Amino acid sequence: WKEHSMIFAMPSKPGEFSRFDFPDVLPAPLNGIWAILKNNEMLTWPEKVRFAIGLLPAMLGGQAYVEAQDGLSVKEWMKKQGIPERVTDEVFIAMSKALNFINPDELSMQCILIALNRFLQEKHGSKMAFLDGNPPERLCMPVVDHIQSLGGEVRLNSRLQKINLNDDGTVKSFTLSNGNVVEGDAYVIAAPVDILKLLLPEEWKEIPYFKKLDKLVGVPVINVHIWFDRKLKNTYDHLLFSRSPLLSVYADMSVTCKEYYDPNRSMLELVFAPAEEWIGCSDSEIIEATMKELAKLFPDEIAADQSK
Ligand SMILES: Cc1cc2nc3c(=O)[nH]c(=O)nc-3n(C[C@H](O)[C@H](O)[C@H](O)COP(=O)(O)OP(=O)(O)OC[C@H]3O[C@@H](n4cnc5c(N)ncnc54)[C@H](O)[C@@H]3O)c2cc1C
Repeated sequence: WKEHSMIFAMPSKPGEFSRFDFPDVLPAPLNGIWAILKNNEMLTWPEKVRFAIGLLPAMLGGQAYVEAQDGLSVKEWMKKQGIPERVTDEVFIAMSKALNFINPDELSMQCILIALNRFLQEKHGSKMAFLDGNPPERLCMPVVDHIQSLGGEVRLNSRLQKINLNDDGTVKSFTLSNGNVVEGDAYVIAAPVDILKLLLPEEWKEIPYFKKLDKLVGVPVINVHIWFDRKLKNTYDHLLFSRSPLLSVYADMSVTCKEYYDPNRSMLELVFAPAEEWIGCSDSEIIEATMKELAKLFPDEIAADQSK
């Protein structure tokens, strides 16, 4: 677990961070309100007050209010609530990109309110943690071990290829990409939404439940890992909000994650988002664009042309 804070890079003051620190002695939502009030670099006092007033219906209205906001984008909702545009620019571009990999003019306000409500209701709702190693070993393997300990079996490289149906439209079996056919008491598909839509049998496509999938689309996002030949100084043992137009959050894994610990060389993991226009580009084009953004975040240490 890291310190209970949200830490933002300052594009206007490269090399400096602006922090929202949630004090441990206060319960939610007071710890969050304190974190917002104590932050001076990003928001002025009038902005904080108008932001807090605008958020009131969300705090009081509960789940029904949150769900009713699905038709509005983050930007539209902020305008409707009279929250200054600078609050959206300073805080919610970073938050929208970190939570859903898209900008506030595209993202549904429901997504932000679900997260904000969690932060306001649970004392540790916004606290962040890092795995102590790579996800396949430290996240997936314990899940596999648990399934196997209960007599289950995990088969890799055997994708679901076809959902076979009975005459009444229920599932008869799954055909896998290796040709095997599996039958079960219950069938669960946890594939990404765009893949599920391709797998959906014709017979199911007009059923209202599945029809709702039409509007669900995946959001392209790119994860960039860069190994440096030196230790970057301007990092911190935490997830950092870059506030760059191309990048979202990033972390120096040589500091934040035990397995990648290195006192002499940094390893940055960065989320590149929104990535719709970039997802088809080559790795070198993506690295080049990332390095240009990093040159702004680390002006004393990184140059896009590698002269530093
Ligand atoms: C860049 C990035 C950074 C993120 N950072 C964080 C973070 O810091 N913290 C956090 O909590 N969340 C984070 N998330 C979100 C988190 O990764 C997802 O919410 C989570 O992985 C979703 O899990 P899932 O099992 O629903 O889907 P996925 O993890 O997408 O798993 C779907 C699986 O289905 C498999 N599959 C595809 N087709 C088939 C098929 N035909 N048959 C069988 N299997 C198939 C895929 O191979 C995949 O393994 C991040 C996501 C991204 C992309």
